[in-house]
Amino acid sequence: MKRIYNFSAGPGILPLPVLEEAAKGVLEINNSGMSILEVSHRGKDYETIHHNAEQRLLKLLGLTADTHQALFLGGGASTQFAMLPMNFLAKDQTADYVNTGEWAAKAIKEAQRFGNVHVAASSEDTRFNCIPASLQLTPGARYLHITTNNTIEGTEWQALPECGSAPLIADCSSDIFARQLDYSRFSLLYAGAQKNAGPAGVTLLAVRRDFLQTANTDLPAMFAYNTHAKADSLYNTPPVFPIYVVDLVLQWIEREGGIAAVEDRNRRKAGLVYEALDAYPAVYEPTVPSPAHRSLMNVTFRLRDTSLDSEFLAGAAARNMDGLKGHRSVGGFRASIYNAFPEEGCQALAEYLHAFARAHAA
Ligand SMILES: *Cc1c(COP(=O)(O)O)cnc(C)c1O
Repeated sequence: MKRIYNFSAGPGILPLPVLEEAAKGVLEINNSGMSILEVSHRGKDYETIHHNAEQRLLKLLGLTADTHQALFLGGGASTQFAMLPMNFLAKDQTADYVNTGEWAAKAIKEAQRFGNVHVAASSEDTRFNCIPASLQLTPGARYLHITTNNTIEGTEWQALPECGSAPLIADCSSDIFARQLDYSRFSLLYAGAQKNAGPAGVTLLAVRRDFLQTANTDLPAMFAYNTHAKADSLYNTPPVFPIYVVDLVLQWIEREGGIAAVEDRNRRKAGLVYEALDAYPAVYEPTVPSPAHRSLMNVTFRLRDTSLDSEFLAGAAARNMDGLKGHRSVGGFRASIYNAFPEEGCQALAEYLHAFARAHAA
């Protein structure tokens, strides 16, 4: 089997051992004579997987079931953009949002349907190439929403903001499990699995139990967090296969040494790529100038001479690299180097960046 260096922004690369185990599970799970795709979500085989996944999710984030509820929901992170304000905002209330890019803007747009949104800070006037320095918080805000890693623009919050008494909420879709962070600061966090945690089809959440108690009532059952919390994400048929693969990914993170070890590797990986880009300012333009704002997960850059773009991509393809084309709104290139992306792949990209720059330096 051939494996390439897959820099895709999402769905992203998964660890090979996880794929191998999942392939076995597709044929048979636990000597049951059934595929993971065939077992009942109320049966013993699946229930064990489900509860292990919940426990691993909380444990890896440094949380416990005493204070937090893990949830596995369908609909992607985009559904959370609406479900969050549906549950926690009302017409006469204000939520603060930080606008750090396209995903944040979508979250803002959905929240505006349910209540007042105050944009506490925005980096839009510099094309989202940084994390805003200071926030204008609304006294008594219902919550403050941030996007920990901006997948499209290549920025990441390196430290969490002060938010006074407002509950802090985060879209962690593209950097959950990538680095050590005080996850207990979040009253609610959500992450579509397909960037850094598993296949598409499930969204991971960790919600503080006391925050859940403040949710709006009188919602359609499927759109109320409390419905899913009370049923441990088994109110209806959950995305069984994606949750199974997420649990395999979480086991893989544990075997790798936990988030601390994964973070060390992620820092080395990103360091290799940013160093190569910064070595040739006449050839490459990292779209996020300040190292203090750069993402560990999505390295975004342009060629100074955009007429070389297709040559750059063709050269990458010849070196077994795929998925480097940047998002249409930013242009240029994006190397997504999620947890499962191997360090050798970052070395290979760095070597290519050096070779390409030497060949094209004026
Ligand atoms: C990909 C992404 C989303 C959207 O996720 P879906 O699961 O496709 O809805 C939301 N937020 C961030 C930060 C993302 O990277």
